[in-house]
Amino acid sequence: MSRIPDQKGMVVWLYGLSGAGKTTISLLLKQQLENDGFFAVCLDGDVLRSGINKDLGFAEDDREENIRRAAEIARLMLQNNIITICSFITPLQKHRTLASAIIGQSFTEVFIECPLEVCQARDVKGLYKKASANQIIHFTGISSSFEVPTNPELIIHTAAESPAESMEKVYNYITPLFKGTINTKTDR
Ligand code: ADP
Repeated sequence: MSRIPDQKGMVVWLYGLSGAGKTTISLLLKQQLENDGFFAVCLDGDVLRSGINKDLGFAEDDREENIRRAAEIARLMLQNNIITICSFITPLQKHRTLASAIIGQSFTEVFIECPLEVCQARDVKGLYKKASANQIIHFTGISSSFEVPTNPELIIHTAAESPAESMEKVYNYITPLFKGTINTKTDR
């Protein structure tokens, strides 16, 4: 018997440098929410870029279009009451403003902060090494800018704690925004 959560959707938008921990936190958060009986999906920048956004590059206009499409997809999820966890570098303030404008008041942004040197040392996908060798152009933090938010809604410092601790902070911040709305129904 499957259980369908009667939940209020929201969009949790994780942004920060490549290797900061967005994907790691989003997957842990999705798992935690599912354990609680909520339904959540992850929208990941790399995944979208390998499919719906594969016609886009990393020059400024394409980065904006990447975010616009992602935000539109997130909005569709939201309209279906899905908790949608988005992981996108979202390098410029205007990109965050655009996503917020498309999604509306259910948009919650979380800055996944990690010093560039730590992201480079992690180099999860080997991209910093390539970017430093000029094998990748427009790489955020190396040859393309990342605007540090001046007044982030929530900031998570991933260099200072474990992935589980980081996820818990995001979880504790977002759950009051929709908890209490759950009313688990039973499928017949
Ligand atoms: P992003 O999605 O931002 O590019 P990833 O999640 O792919 O980054 O990679 C982040 C890396 O940093 C992973 O190897 C992860 O295990 C590690 N890491 C270390 N501490 C943390 C933390 N507190 N939160 C998230 N990731 C962390």
